[in-house]
Amino acid sequence: MALKILDTCVNCDVCEPVCPNQAIALGPVIYEIAPHRCTECVGHFDVPQCIEVCPVECIIVDALHVETREQLLDRYLALSVGNEVAKDKNA
Ligand code: SF4
Ligand code: SF4
Repeated sequence: MALKILDTCVNCDVCEPVCPNQAIALGPVIYEIAPHRCTECVGHFDVPQCIEVCPVECIIVDALHVETREQLLDRYLALSVGNEVAKDKNA
């Protein structure tokens, strides 16, 4: 996991649509980040978009799951390939 949402989240809904990887979704109580889809926005933007828009600053780097830029870039590439395959299947 790259980033995580703290329980101070107020479910304002603004982070979910700005995520380029569809990594954010409403969980049972608050919004959650799917670790297998979050690249800290590497490959798309210079800074994490969810952190930029969160009005209560409740999204942080998970110190227990720090990942290198190379690992995040690999995930971005894997997700991109997956998106292309999905597009081809739907064509
Ligand atoms: Fe999505 Fe970027 Fe936030 Fe990760 S850092 S959850 S990829 S917006
Ligand atoms: Fe929660 Fe922040 Fe996302 Fe709003 S922007 S839903 S407060 S994590």
